[in-house]
Amino acid sequence: MSDYLVNAASKPTLRKFMGALGIPTPVELARAEGPYQARFLEGQRVLFGARPGAGARDTINTVLSGTGARVDTSDKPQPADDDRYDALVFDATQMSDAADLKALYEFFHPVARKLTKNARVVVLTSQPESMPTVAAAAAARAVEGFTRSFAKEIGKFGSTVNLLYVEPGAEARIATPLRFFLSDHSTFVDGQALTITAAGIAPADPPETQPLTGKTALVTGGARGIGAATAARLASEGAHVVCLDIPQDKDTLDATVAEFGGTALALDITDDSAPRQIADFLKEKFGGVDIVIHNAGVTRDKTLANMPEHYWDMVLAINLQAILAVDAVLMDEQIVNEHGRVVCLCSIGGIAGNRGQTNYGATKAGLIGFVERRADAQRDRGVTVNAVAPGFIETRMTAEMPFGVREAGRRLASLGQGGTPGDVAETITFLCTPGAGGVSGNVLRVCGQSLIGA
Ligand code: NAD
Repeated sequence: MSDYLVNAASKPTLRKFMGALGIPTPVELARAEGPYQARFLEGQRVLFGARPGAGARDTINTVLSGTGARVDTSDKPQPADDDRYDALVFDATQMSDAADLKALYEFFHPVARKLTKNARVVVLTSQPESMPTVAAAAAARAVEGFTRSFAKEIGKFGSTVNLLYVEPGAEARIATPLRFFLSDHSTFVDGQALTITAAGIAPADPPETQPLTGKTALVTGGARGIGAATAARLASEGAHVVCLDIPQDKDTLDATVAEFGGTALALDITDDSAPRQIADFLKEKFGGVDIVIHNAGVTRDKTLANMPEHYWDMVLAINLQAILAVDAVLMDEQIVNEHGRVVCLCSIGGIAGNRGQTNYGATKAGLIGFVERRADAQRDRGVTVNAVAPGFIETRMTAEMPFGVREAGRRLASLGQGGTPGDVAETITFLCTPGAGGVSGNVLRVCGQSLIGA
């Protein structure tokens, strides 16, 4: 789906003209193509700094030295006029109090104008809940206000700023999230915070390429849209993917799985027998499942006063009740293997609410409650449970919106445009990798830092 403003603004003369007229000039976003590469940031310039006493230096250094980047290290940089950076990483973990926040200013202020387009900025801070004092917790949490604000300043250049909250003891688990946020696989994730915990089974050293080799994945609603994009992306990292969709869409489903050699399962998840059928299918064919993507979902929008009962019932049944029923069987019978990954498709509507979506908003908020509880319950098996919340994604659904609504959806994001199903698929795939074992119970928005629900 092309965005006429991105196209127009890519031509330098038109861009200038648009800028003069106050028309938004969103930049073309850099997107990684294909599977993960062991070396990324090839030939790019990265600046790494840390406040005194920060605790994640070693892991960050190891990650950066494994890339193809030229890495400069400075806690108080003094760049030359022509210095430009493609990525900034700052370790602000283990602050004692608000005075320590000055290190953020000292590192970022001198280089804030020195970023290339599509730059990546990642900041690490300690998980506030695990800080020993009130002052330290406040300082740690302050970093989120900094990163979200900085993201709003540089989003117009296609650049992203994201935050990693690191629980003490979880430093060894930051490598995969850090790689994700530094890469162009995370293009449409902007202004977000992810918590990395130390609890649960420690993941083994994850492979950096084809990390899903030997894994089996189930993607519900996998015939089209975000589900199909996710299935293809998981397969490209080595997973065998079972795509489930309604029997009426069997032809589309078969065509989708044929593209990457997956398995089709034509089933309506709201059927009473669906949880049993899914569990038996996965157990008999594959001995279990490693990755479950609860993606099937529908909208039936009406304001509450105008909403017919069957709209309410249908959305609740598909988007929430069926997921809970399928999950119960897969978890109770341990069909989901140890170190498994579960990802739910939530929505900004589930975070902030949306006019005309009391039914949909309820289901997507319900999934957040599900994710938080399920993540706790599965920690000792190393199974992670997370949600992604897409913002404005360029799909058939959003193409049919009235012009004004579509424009608002696109331009109210810091990146000034919509995302793609592939952007959501990238984030889901990251959460499914073995190296994301420290990330559980999170809701990660893929929204280009949309103001809606912010
Ligand atoms: P889509 O309509 O393109 O695809 C959804 C798929 O789910 C369809 O193939 C459909 O047949 C399947 N499905 C519906 N009911 C089913 C059932 N009972 N059993 C089995 N399969 C069923 O939708 P999409 O835009 O790709 O959205 C995918 C998910 O992402 C949904 O959960 C949606 O709520 C969520 N989401 C999408 C957006 C967006 O902008 N597209 C934004 C936020 C959240």
